[in-house]
Amino acid sequence: MNSDSDQIILAQPRGFCAGVDRAINIVNEALQRFGAPIYVRHEIVHNVYVVEELRTKGAIFVEELAEVPKGAIVVFSAHGVSQEVRRDAAARGLQIYDATCPLVSKVHVEVVKMCKDGFTVLMIGHAGHPEVEGTMGQVNAGIFLIESLADVAKLSFPAQTKLAFVTQTTLSVDETKEIVDALTQKFPQIIKPRKQDICYATQNRQDAVKFMAPQVDVVIVVGSKMSSNSNRLRELAEKLGVPAYMVDSPDQLQADWFVGKKRVGLTAGASAPETLAQAIVQRIQELGPRKVHSLPGVVEDTVFSLPKSLVD
Ligand code: SF4
Repeated sequence: MNSDSDQIILAQPRGFCAGVDRAINIVNEALQRFGAPIYVRHEIVHNVYVVEELRTKGAIFVEELAEVPKGAIVVFSAHGVSQEVRRDAAARGLQIYDATCPLVSKVHVEVVKMCKDGFTVLMIGHAGHPEVEGTMGQVNAGIFLIESLADVAKLSFPAQTKLAFVTQTTLSVDETKEIVDALTQKFPQIIKPRKQDICYATQNRQDAVKFMAPQVDVVIVVGSKMSSNSNRLRELAEKLGVPAYMVDSPDQLQADWFVGKKRVGLTAGASAPETLAQAIVQRIQELGPRKVHSLPGVVEDTVFSLPKSLVD
């Protein structure tokens, strides 16, 4: 690396994960196979650019199934849905293609099994996030949301209560660790998920920011406001002492962020496409000449297959 010239340093890995790739492919495949319109419940993934692109191809995004005409085709977003939404879809005669990320579905299965086995389940996550609503909505009762250490402090269960916890997949690994430590200290009998539910993609992108942050003067995260994992990447960079900004289009970049910053680090949340990351790199270069340098990092090869019902 030439240390004299100003640089843009790219984190590896960054951008699309296998779950996002699959979800977008499901909408594209449905559009190709059945034609427009294809309804999508909630933003298929939390990225404005992706949603707009699919909208121009004929996808219609809705928040409630009541907005969908009877018998229409609907894709459930990567974040997953509650059992109530599934029942509602069946009652309305909708044809469903489920783009729930398989890693989120895995958590759903765990929650149902644990509740059946008599456990009270604690879900570590953020209120109002669709993944949290979907996961908590797998069962009618026996699951509680934990958002903070203060929530853990307020918990009280009889000593014989069988307890287990699960986590939202896109949280910060460190933030979750604090809550998990507090839970295990307070309830030594609590059952942990077989494997941490924070997904490989979240973990890899956070590790890449930890590796990149000490080598740069400012961090740009490509991601939309609603994207949980993109927000966590920005917070992580700031926690590591580097000013960090999140943008989801080149025109949101501000020239003064780069004044006196020799090395600009760039990463992208799991829902942000590489084409957008490249457009942002180009805009940063327009604000001042910089060489682009890619850091080494994990090369991901996870692929989730499309639903059989869609490709057969
Ligand atoms: Fe699935 Fe992880 Fe991607 Fe979320 S970030 S869609 S859990 S692979």
